[in-house]
Amino acid sequence: MARCNNILIRDIPLFGCIAFGIIDRGTNVLQVRPISECPLSCVFCSTDAGPHSKRIASAYMVDLEQLLCAFEWAASYKEIDGIEAHIDTVGEPAMYPRLVELVEGLSENSHVRTVSMQTNGTLLNAKLIDKLEAAGLSRINMSIESLDPDLAKRIAGTDSYNLGKVIENAEYIAQNTEIDLLIAPVWLTGINDEEIPKLIEFALRTGAGKRWPALGIQKFLPHKYGRKPDIRPMSWEIFYSRLREWEGIYRTKLVLTPEDFGSFECRAIPRVFKRYEKVKVKIVGHGWMRGEKLAVARGRVITVVNADSIPIGREVYVRMERVVDGIYIAR
Ligand code: SF4
Repeated sequence: MARCNNILIRDIPLFGCIAFGIIDRGTNVLQVRPISECPLSCVFCSTDAGPHSKRIASAYMVDLEQLLCAFEWAASYKEIDGIEAHIDTVGEPAMYPRLVELVEGLSENSHVRTVSMQTNGTLLNAKLIDKLEAAGLSRINMSIESLDPDLAKRIAGTDSYNLGKVIENAEYIAQNTEIDLLIAPVWLTGINDEEIPKLIEFALRTGAGKRWPALGIQKFLPHKYGRKPDIRPMSWEIFYSRLREWEGIYRTKLVLTPEDFGSFECRAIPRVFKRYEKVKVKIVGHGWMRGEKLAVARGRVITVVNADSIPIGREVYVRMERVVDGIYIAR
């Protein structure tokens, strides 16, 4: 990555930006994003994260107290219990220095039933896993794409990727803690086809899937600004038929639905902008990707594209281009 702005997010709204804060897609799952960095540079990364990124311009870290406060507001607004706080991020959650306190704060929230997180597993160790368990973490979704060390390094785009350590962490979670483990490989056709059955066997042998499914196999989906490896395209039909075939062979659930995780639709936090609406915003900082700036209006943060020349602190009119799931992109 070329020079990157390191930005501590404090005193700006935590709703509206894909790269940090809280995302509410109108279900009982609130996505919590405390940090945006990642130590890997996976060849398939949908967010172009990590040291090899060509587009990322800023790395964000969110103030813990503000994050917990915003979470409490969103959780109470939904007027339900049974919320899942899902720490996912556009990078690697374990890079957040106050991860244990974050898990603790979320699990102590009276609306929360489940605290889960995604990780590539590289930054975990037994001591940290024990602390996360004591803090109330319910499930870890760990992405592992291959059990072959060389292929795993190539896919991670990082020579220092240590598959042995990742496997050790996965086994420790499944066998020594109450935290459930879900192995979540991305199937890259033509690259890791032979690894998928091996990963299913590994997950089952290790003891993943104590309360939730043991595996969450994902089909690779190219993203406009993500990295795209040279893979053979695969239809959804073939993808699901292979999963069903493996379900028969391994006697485990592989075709998943939101119900498998106890997810349901509920009241969404207010959406404050309409598409194509003209809005006066205040530019408050550098954007996540090159050419972008962060702006604030109506208690939300907005990503303004093509904004290189707009100085921070300036008030400008923008047009809302995208308003899906309370994530706002303007021009
Ligand atoms: S671990 Fe995830 S966020 Fe990091 S580079 Fe790989 S795919 Fe991207």
